[in-house]
Amino acid sequence: MAHAGKGVKELFDEVINQGLCAGCGACITGCPYIVAHGGRIVVLDKCGGAEGDCYKHCPRTSFDIDGVNRAVFGTDYPEGGIGRVLDILMVRAKDPEIKKRGQDGGTVTSLLALALQEGLIEVVACTRMDEDRAPHGRLARSRRELLECAGSSYEAGFGLEAYRSLPKESTERLAIVGTGCQIEAVGKMKQCSPKNSPDPQKIEFTLGLFCGWALSPRTFHPYLKTMCELSQVCKFEIPHTPHYSFDFHLENQDIRSVSLDEIKPYINPGCHYCWDLTAEFSDISIGSAGSAFPGWNTVLVRSPKGADLIALANRKSIIEIQALPEKRIEHLKLVAIERKRAAVKKITEKTGSEKELLYLDGMSESIAHKFLVG
Ligand SMILES: Cc1cc2nc3c(=O)[nH]c(=O)nc-3n(C[C@H](O)[C@H](O)[C@H](O)COP(=O)(O)OP(=O)(O)OC[C@H]3O[C@@H](n4cnc5c(N)ncnc54)[C@H](O)[C@@H]3O)c2cc1C
Ligand code: SF4
Ligand code: SF4
Repeated sequence: MAHAGKGVKELFDEVINQGLCAGCGACITGCPYIVAHGGRIVVLDKCGGAEGDCYKHCPRTSFDIDGVNRAVFGTDYPEGGIGRVLDILMVRAKDPEIKKRGQDGGTVTSLLALALQEGLIEVVACTRMDEDRAPHGRLARSRRELLECAGSSYEAGFGLEAYRSLPKESTERLAIVGTGCQIEAVGKMKQCSPKNSPDPQKIEFTLGLFCGWALSPRTFHPYLKTMCELSQVCKFEIPHTPHYSFDFHLENQDIRSVSLDEIKPYINPGCHYCWDLTAEFSDISIGSAGSAFPGWNTVLVRSPKGADLIALANRKSIIEIQALPEKRIEHLKLVAIERKRAAVKKITEKTGSEKELLYLDGMSESIAHKFLVG
């Protein structure tokens, strides 16, 4: 087995020092020796364990796509380019406060606030942009705390750390929100439970965010400081196409806008190796890419549990739903496949061989052929 006998040393040798780290925070989930500090993974003390959850659950160590798909959905990984999908919709929140605070349509915050209100969950492991204007994992147990986490920090923030802060014996019903790499790590935990965190089989919902890249706070913040006072930034936005800009909203209502090309150098290097645009192992995936109008989310419903939550939100009239036009669905699939090809290209450039696919080496040949090589 690829993971046998491997721990923090191999995590550094094979992932972190290779520039593959996604900044998901899974390795600090349930480990007393590993922490995130200043945008880096830091090891506090020597770990005596023969084999580590840090290595096992990292989404950038060997990732068995079929195996994770079976652990999460009970089926082999499907064709199509965007993972398992039961329904594709456009959705937005009705609640004016959530609409205002949400990044796009406020669908993530609406669904989670409803699940809390209905007692389906008691806590959400999510991410919040804090005083330092960097994202940090947070636990939200109320609508107010969820609203404090609303909006996207387009930075990698080790957010799964929030899951870590729950004790293993916690019986709180939990939901997790995260980008594709974070949800992949949770998928690996469903394959093989972590030693020190609550049983991932008992996670009620995973809400995955579409994700094209995340910026690295270590390089992006020095740049940001040349543009504005860091403490003044209250929101980041990538306006609905075709603007191709990245906007910083400031407390004084000012908006600074730069070209996306200008911030590309600050993308977390590990994101260039990422194959998962649409967070394929979540119960519901939510983004804005593909949606026909600004202020709406594109929503991929992936599991029966996810479908039930959307249906409940619709019955309670907390969201508006529209069909997503077929042309846009096809386009989203093309973009998602393109992303997989780009990731494999980067990987093979690194390894120098089409047969050495690093963390994707566990991919069956049929998947590799359909999505990655053709
Ligand atoms: C790093 C990043 C890159 C993204 N790239 C794309 C993209 O290329 N295309 C696209 O269509 N959509 C992308 N998104 C998703 C998009 O920005 C919205 O999050 C999504 O459309 C949901 O909108 P909403 O209004 O429902 O979210 P909201 O209701 O505002 O909820 C947003 C949720 O995002 C969580 N969150 C905020 N920052 C982070 C973070 N850094 N890491 C993990 N979770 C976070 C919060 O916990 C909150 O619960 C990206 C999001 C992130 C965080
Ligand atoms: S990808 Fe996630 S689990 Fe792997 S080293 Fe980076 S933060 Fe840790
Ligand atoms: S691009 Fe991929 S690796 Fe980077 S934050 Fe998004 S999902 Fe994670």
